[in-house]
Amino acid sequence: MNAGARRLRVVYGDITRLEVDAIVNAANSTLLGGGGVDGTIHRAAGPELLAECRTLGGCSPGQSKLTRGYRLPARWVIHTVGPVWRGGGEREDEVLASSYRTALALAADKRLATVAFPAISCGVYGFPIPRACRIAVREIEAFLASSPHPARVDLVAFDEAVRREYAALLPGSV
Ligand code: ADP
Repeated sequence: MNAGARRLRVVYGDITRLEVDAIVNAANSTLLGGGGVDGTIHRAAGPELLAECRTLGGCSPGQSKLTRGYRLPARWVIHTVGPVWRGGGEREDEVLASSYRTALALAADKRLATVAFPAISCGVYGFPIPRACRIAVREIEAFLASSPHPARVDLVAFDEAVRREYAALLPGSV
């Protein structure tokens, strides 16, 4: 295991409960809230989050934007827009990789120590879960190998299919 891999771990459950510097939101391009993890984050953070998101002018797929966390234990939320899966021929892999990289770059710019990611695009956006989890682990490990920030990244597994994939990809981290 390399130095990057030791800084990456798998945790279970609801990302809004985590006491980390930033949680990542699998947002849609309006940044105005939605279902899944996005809805849960907005409910937990309170209406101030939506008010700040309204000032941001949306976000393109593969890009990320930072807000405060308001009532969340996390001080910051990094909103990223993953790709909608359309069969794999529309650069979905690249867009998903870019979501992880741009979110991590924001965390590194802010010198954040701990960041937690949900499985971006693995819910209603329909990305095949094994393929998405491989991209997540590859991109995070590559980023950590080249940057001291963040010091630690949590991959949050909320459902069983994602948990199984991360357990297979990162044995010993679970
Ligand atoms: P997307 O639109 O990017 O597919 P979803 O929110 O539908 O986003 O799903 C992304 C992943 O987040 C799924 O694996 C889903 O199980 C997971 N998820 C849903 N709620 C939570 C939560 N409270 N904490 C962590 N992960 C969650």
